[in-house]
Amino acid sequence: MTILGATGSVGQSTLDLIERNREHYEVLALTAFRDVAGLAAAAKRVDARAAVIGDENLLGDLKEALAGTEIEIAAGREAVIDAARSGADWTMAAIVGCAGLKPVMAAIEGGGTIALANKEALVSAGNIMMQAACSSGTRLLPVDSEHNAIFQCLDRDRPEAVRRITLTASGGPFRTWTLDQMRKASPAQAVAHPNWSMGAKISVDSATLMNKGLELIEAFHLFPPQPDALGVVIHPQSVIHSLVEYVDGSVLAQLGAPDMRIPIAHTLAWPERMETPCQRLDLVAIGKLDFEEPDLERFPALALAKSVLGEGGAGPAILNAANEIAVASFLDNRIGFLDIATIAGKTLESFAPAAPFTLDEVLEIDAEARSVAGAIARKYEI
Ligand code: NDP
Ligand code: MG
Repeated sequence: MTILGATGSVGQSTLDLIERNREHYEVLALTAFRDVAGLAAAAKRVDARAAVIGDENLLGDLKEALAGTEIEIAAGREAVIDAARSGADWTMAAIVGCAGLKPVMAAIEGGGTIALANKEALVSAGNIMMQAACSSGTRLLPVDSEHNAIFQCLDRDRPEAVRRITLTASGGPFRTWTLDQMRKASPAQAVAHPNWSMGAKISVDSATLMNKGLELIEAFHLFPPQPDALGVVIHPQSVIHSLVEYVDGSVLAQLGAPDMRIPIAHTLAWPERMETPCQRLDLVAIGKLDFEEPDLERFPALALAKSVLGEGGAGPAILNAANEIAVASFLDNRIGFLDIATIAGKTLESFAPAAPFTLDEVLEIDAEARSVAGAIARKYEI
């Protein structure tokens, strides 16, 4: 197996499961971007064949960190892409952002099974990625907890029997905050997710509900339902991870503790099941489950994502790129929390390229959207 983004939150959860079952797995490659120490330590622990760092300036540091081992070393963007293509039976795609797109596409070319956590890549290149997976015979297994839940509940042989797919959302740390409170929200407050421990970018996306918007687009490509058969419900406890309703009125849901090792384990063992050390679900201790309608006025990012859902054009790639730029500016304390969705919306309005049909066209749109969003973001700088 190969883990792209091995030093991140999903990467580390994946490594945790592998380390508990070392005899079952052989690790071909681990990749990271700048965390040399984390990458080297993980590569030693799982005796990886190769360790690849995305930032080419860090080659020397990685060499030093892995001196005296037999682990092969490489650095640079192309090296990450090559590692992704290394022909692993199972690849975890857990790079954050559209930076993971080329590596995921390379992994799809390489074949095998891909456990897909990197939703931004699928949002940006939706049809192109799904077609590539279809023609190479690569199986995409969703890691995102909602999509993994849907995957477990969906009767893929009878798509016509599905009436509705509902994604649950915790509502994030600002679920009950007013717009005025959110205007002053700090990066530290935004990344303090009530239920899940995740990387900084997705934590901010959860606070704006852009994460749920990206997930609607992700579900649209993975399953794929009619756009109007996809919904979102706020469920603060994060116990039900998503639901599938059938024409006869039956609703199937997948439940579990909010621990990413559960969906990751599902994709690792699929179609079998494996033991995990995760907390067991204790419904009596939880007591009750709550549900609310999402508030699109306080969380306009979700409305933006809905507006581009299913249009099949460049909208999702633009939205994703603009959001990545805006979230990075927010985490850098350069713009306010509410400016994230404003910048994404203004970027969507500012240009309308033709729908992309190739990976290069997606990457061109992504690059242009980043530059437009960057210029807009500068106007909002505090
Ligand atoms: P993290 O920020 O924790 O980790 C990101 C990983 O990607 C790190 O290994 C990082 O390396 C690497 N990376 C970052 N930028 C680049 C780049 N330009 N080139 C190559 N590698 C890069 O993110 P998460 O683990 O939280 O999320 C990963 C993906 O999974 C995201 O798409 C997210 O939306 C999705 N996801 C995450 C969930 C979670 O619980 N965390 C849940 C569901 C989905 P380095 O450490 O060296 O910077
Ligand atoms: Mg999710």
